[in-house]
Amino acid sequence: MNIGSLLTSSAASHPKSPAIVHGSLTMDYEQFNARVNRLSNALRRLGARPGDNVAILMVNCPQMLEAMFAVFKAGCGAVPINFRLHPSEFAFIIDDSEASVLITTEDFDQPIREVRADLPRVRHVITTGSAAGDVQNYDDVLDGESEQFVDVEVAPDDVAWLFYTSGTTGVPKGAMLSHRNLLGMTDRFYADIFPNFGDHEVVLHAAPLSHGSGLYGVPNVGGAAAHVFPGSTSFDPAWVLETIESQCVTNLFAAPAMIKRLVDCPAIDHADVSSLKAFVWGGAPMMVEDLQQALARFPNLVQIYGLGETPMTITSLSQRDHVLDGNATQTKRLASAGTRRTNVEVEVVDGDDNFQPVGETGEVVTRSDVMTQGYWRDAEATALALQNGWLHTGDLGYFDEDGYLFLMDRSKDMIISGGENIYPREIEEVLARHPAVREVAVIGVPDEQWGEAIKAVVSLVAGQDATEEGLIAYCKSNIASFKKPRSVDFVAEIPKNNYGKIMKRELREPYWKNHERSI
Ligand code: AMP
Repeated sequence: MNIGSLLTSSAASHPKSPAIVHGSLTMDYEQFNARVNRLSNALRRLGARPGDNVAILMVNCPQMLEAMFAVFKAGCGAVPINFRLHPSEFAFIIDDSEASVLITTEDFDQPIREVRADLPRVRHVITTGSAAGDVQNYDDVLDGESEQFVDVEVAPDDVAWLFYTSGTTGVPKGAMLSHRNLLGMTDRFYADIFPNFGDHEVVLHAAPLSHGSGLYGVPNVGGAAAHVFPGSTSFDPAWVLETIESQCVTNLFAAPAMIKRLVDCPAIDHADVSSLKAFVWGGAPMMVEDLQQALARFPNLVQIYGLGETPMTITSLSQRDHVLDGNATQTKRLASAGTRRTNVEVEVVDGDDNFQPVGETGEVVTRSDVMTQGYWRDAEATALALQNGWLHTGDLGYFDEDGYLFLMDRSKDMIISGGENIYPREIEEVLARHPAVREVAVIGVPDEQWGEAIKAVVSLVAGQDATEEGLIAYCKSNIASFKKPRSVDFVAEIPKNNYGKIMKRELREPYWKNHERSI
């Protein structure tokens, strides 16, 4: 089944249900589907054939959801691109995907002009801005097109979404997500994440549509939910809180960094967020201290853990497990990434791919029908990631006796100091409990004696003070001495990418400049 048919069905079953809410604009499912069909027809007219890719470089807006579903319905592969990338980065992705059509918002008209020469394969640019030269206006393109479209029949393994990895470890690669993958993701959303999904759900797209929010836009379309879009491109916690209340938002996806900003926002004291039924978080770890603060504010948190290569996701920590004042076992589980998702195999292996017993740390591997078949035009990266039929995540962790997965770190972030494996997460959890610490990232830096030395990079809570010696002593009184940082850097803000992931590579880079180690 074509994943785009979810929209066709919702328009048939819920034609008058609200589909889009954006400022004063509202659109029901019949209207939304009609516009999507017109765009699918236009794509066909412009020469996009089933199997071709269509690049989508847009800020979160209704047209982006339209574009994604129009591309699905046309049997093409959607390539949603992180709108915060540098022009040279998005140009790389557009060119790498071999897209012949690029759909964009007016925000990118000028940057696209600047990189146009690097995009020889793009034959048509469609923008929500003004037409100019070979650039056509989005609404003009829809004009005159039929509202009828028969969704293109696809094979289950045809590419529906080319998901470019966020590149925290190097050049972005396009994980091919098939119609089967996205349908599997949709079923599991209703099974594990939002089991009481009803007829009048409302999803808020506060996080980028090119990542988790867009992926979970798919089951929300399938369930005929209303999609609420922000009016600005920056994450505005006060607006999000106000919108949850005014639009009775029932579900949303957010990265831990966003949740922290919501919790820290003064408006939280009088916000009514009781409409939320599934507040999904993931994409990066959340310190237990931060999770407890979030739990005191938000009902119905659900954690998901996985990768772009395994939409949306391989384990989850259920609402049931998000307990604020629980017993010791429940509190311990708050530090975990939860249990295996429905019909998803997850194991921990050693360097030779042998399954590890309970309690043993190794690399997390997974296998299921929500797993990518590989990377676009990159057989080498595919072979590396998919050894022995299992996707190797690059994350280290262990299962406890109850099947809860405890993630340590990405293998590249692990520190080896004096022959000891040290997991930054453990030290970060300790420092996050210090009252003056707002955010923390622990990295390994070169050290002549130990190979690597532990460094904590810390941002402080406004108005609070802490010293390097004080924080080191704090660690020493909470964990084994060999795990305490040797040094602490204080920064105003810890660098994160647009998906809220701390850029450890970027933090490490200056220290490793003249050393032989891949960072
Ligand atoms: P991406 O493919 O950009 O979504 O990045 C996937 C990576 O993000 C994973 O391999 C993990 O390292 C990290 N990640 C995602 N979700 C979580 C989570 N719930 N807890 C800890 N790390 C996570």
